[in-house]
Amino acid sequence: MTSARLMLGNGLAKDLAADTARRSEDFHQRAGRRPCLATVLVGDDPASVTYVRMKQNRCRQAGIESRHVALPDTTSTEELVAALTALSEDPEVDGILLQHPVPAQIDERAAFEAIAAGKDVDGVTMHSFAAMAFGLPGYDSCTPGGIMRLLDHHGVDPAGRHAVVIGRSPILGKPVAMLLLARDATVTVCHSKTQDLPAIVRTADIVVAAVGRPEFVRGDWLKPGAVVVDAGYNEGNVGDVAFDEAMSRADLVTPVPGGVGPMTISVLLDQTVRAAFEHAGLG
Ligand code: NAP
Repeated sequence: MTSARLMLGNGLAKDLAADTARRSEDFHQRAGRRPCLATVLVGDDPASVTYVRMKQNRCRQAGIESRHVALPDTTSTEELVAALTALSEDPEVDGILLQHPVPAQIDERAAFEAIAAGKDVDGVTMHSFAAMAFGLPGYDSCTPGGIMRLLDHHGVDPAGRHAVVIGRSPILGKPVAMLLLARDATVTVCHSKTQDLPAIVRTADIVVAAVGRPEFVRGDWLKPGAVVVDAGYNEGNVGDVAFDEAMSRADLVTPVPGGVGPMTISVLLDQTVRAAFEHAGLG
């Protein structure tokens, strides 16, 4: 039985982070300050606290200053919008990350839109989505941006190929579909109301699984030789694709962990340093 090649993200994410650290130091020398990422966390959900801490640690390693704004879980939309507006107007802040998800009483879209487009290094605003959709310069949603870099690094050109994206969330499925379309893939976006999903996936040259259900995509759904990107991350380090089955059918497969996952924070840091250069007019 043949076995697919692995599309690993660890090394690529490390190389990107090393390049970001070099550019961050160059910015420090030229601007007289370090690039600064503001993280905003509403409430104290343990997973979100861990994610924010990981991002702050990675900032430190890359020579990026991080500023943290912690708000109580009773925060209103107006209060969160005010905090994000203040960061948007602060000349010392280059990038802003609002940790997702926010408590249910908050209008998350209104909060995201309070982030200035030039500081949206997490790629969550409508402005950033439009830039991804039109293939114009802007900040990518970090996981979708990481997926595109993984594909490029492994020599997968989406042009003219049928890409099937399973999932349509604003942070993953929809933006990755736009990035693939901007690179001339023929894109089908599937979701929970899609009829006969396996038949659609069988026509895909590139499959992106962004569902949030362990081992949801089965090997016999895959066209032999397909490229399989598993963006899922479920309890117990399990992806959205049945890994062993995919390995015996596909050409390239991202493992979980070690595939898409490591790319996300590296893209965030890369985009933060890019924003710093742009704010300082150092291009
Ligand atoms: P989400 O917001 O829950 O979206 C899940 C999507 O899957 C929805 O669009 C939903 O369709 C669709 N879906 C659910 N059941 C389905 C079914 N039976 N058939 C077809 N589609 C179905 O999740 P998300 O935030 O996009 O995350 C998806 C996965 O990626 C999760 O495992 C998450 O942990 C992972 N993730 C990883 C990273 C990273 O690696 N750094 C970052 C973000 C997310 P409807 O729209 O119709 O409900």
